[in-house]
Amino acid sequence: MANQGTIAILAGTLIDGTGADPRRHTTIEVRDGEIVAIHDGHHVPAGATAIDASGLTVMPGLIDSHVHLAMRPKGLEDRLQTPYSLGVAETLVNARATLDAGVTTVRDAGGTPRGVKMALERGLFPGPRVRISVGALSQTGGHGDATTMSGVHLRADTADAPMSEHPWTVVDGVDEARRGVRQLIRAGADQIKLMTSGGVMSPGSDPGRTGFGRDEIAAIVNEARAAGRTTMSHAQASAGILNAVVSGVDSIEHGVYLTEEICHEMVARGTYLVPTLVAPLWVLRRAERDPGSVPAWAVAKGRTVVVAHKESFRMAVELGVTIAMGTDHGVGPHGTNAEELAVMVEGGLTPMQAIVASTSVAAKCCRVDHLVGTIAPGLRADIIAIDGDPLADITILQDHARLRVILQDGHAYKPLA
Ligand SMILES: [Zn+2]
Repeated sequence: MANQGTIAILAGTLIDGTGADPRRHTTIEVRDGEIVAIHDGHHVPAGATAIDASGLTVMPGLIDSHVHLAMRPKGLEDRLQTPYSLGVAETLVNARATLDAGVTTVRDAGGTPRGVKMALERGLFPGPRVRISVGALSQTGGHGDATTMSGVHLRADTADAPMSEHPWTVVDGVDEARRGVRQLIRAGADQIKLMTSGGVMSPGSDPGRTGFGRDEIAAIVNEARAAGRTTMSHAQASAGILNAVVSGVDSIEHGVYLTEEICHEMVARGTYLVPTLVAPLWVLRRAERDPGSVPAWAVAKGRTVVVAHKESFRMAVELGVTIAMGTDHGVGPHGTNAEELAVMVEGGLTPMQAIVASTSVAAKCCRVDHLVGTIAPGLRADIIAIDGDPLADITILQDHARLRVILQDGHAYKPLA
C-alpha cells in the first residue's frame, strides 16, 4: 500500500474491540495505514490529517465471519439467465455495499473467486478485506450439491479442470475429500468450507441430516491443516455439528440444533460458533415480501429451523461457547450486516459482547487478528465512527447515515479523503 501519511482520529469515545471499558477523549495516530499510538486527549501531530470524531463513538471496523459476496437472493429463472461474468460484477457491487455498512473484513463462505479478492486488494474497487473459501465441499446429494431433480447441475462455472476458478466440490470418500481440499487451495482458498449437514436452501438436503462421515471430515481437516488453513463447517443437525467438532473443525456455521453436550465439547476445544441468526429470518422475509421468490420447501424448512436456532444460540451463550459474528448475507441483502448484532443481543449477548464477537473474536476466527480486530498499536487501521452510543442502543450500527467514518487499511473510504 502506498504511503498514506499520518492521520489523527480525534475520538470522543473509543471502544477498542477487546471488551475493555470505553475510553473518552483519545487520539488515534495512524501512519501509512498502521495504528502507531493511542494518546490521551485530542491533539494533531504536525503534518497529520485530522479526522474530527470528537462527537462520535470510534471502534474497529466490523468483521463478518460468514458472507457470500457472490450471492444475492434470486429465483431460478434469474439464476439461469445470469452469465458468470455478470455475477463477478455483482460480487464487486456487493463488496462495496458491505463496506458501506462499516464491515471492513469478511470471510467468504463460498462463491467468491480469487480474482475478486485480488481486485479488492489492489484497490480496483472498494470493498472489505476478504478471506475466501472459493467453494464448499459437500457429499453427493448434500447441501452443496447443486444438481436438480431433473439432473441439471446449476453451477456451469464449476468444473474439474485446471483452468476453472471453481473446482468441483462434490466429493465422496477420503481420497476425493483430500483432492477437493487441494484443488480449493490451488484455486486460492484461505480456509476450507465443508457441509456436515443438510440445509435450508438446497432442494434435496435436510437441516436435520448429517453430511460426510467422520473419516471424510477428518481427512478434510488434516489436509487443510497441512496447508495452514482453518476449516469452517456448515452444520445444522446435531449429529453433523458433533461430527465436525470432534473431527477438529475450527468453526461451526449456523449451529441450528445444538445440545449441551456439543456446547461443552466446543468450549473444551475452543471451537467457534458463527450463528448467522439473520439468515433464516431473511428466507422467511423474502417469502413474505415476494411470494414465489423462495421455493415452498425452503420456506417450510426456514420456519422449522428458526425457533430451534434461537434456542440453540441462547444455550451456547449460557454455556460459554465462543461466538463470532456472521450473517450468511447473500441470503439476506448485502449491507444489512449489523442487524446480526441486534439479534444476538436479543438472544442473550450484551451489546459489548456483540461488538467483541464482531471485532476481536471474529478476527481470531477469520485468522486476521494479526492485522485487525482491535484498535491497538501495530494493527492496520480498519476503523469506523458512529454517531451515538452502540452500547446503549446496538441498533444504531444499522443506520448508515450515522456511520460517519469508515477507514479501511488506513484509507479514508468515508469521508472521502
Ligand atoms: Zn453460507
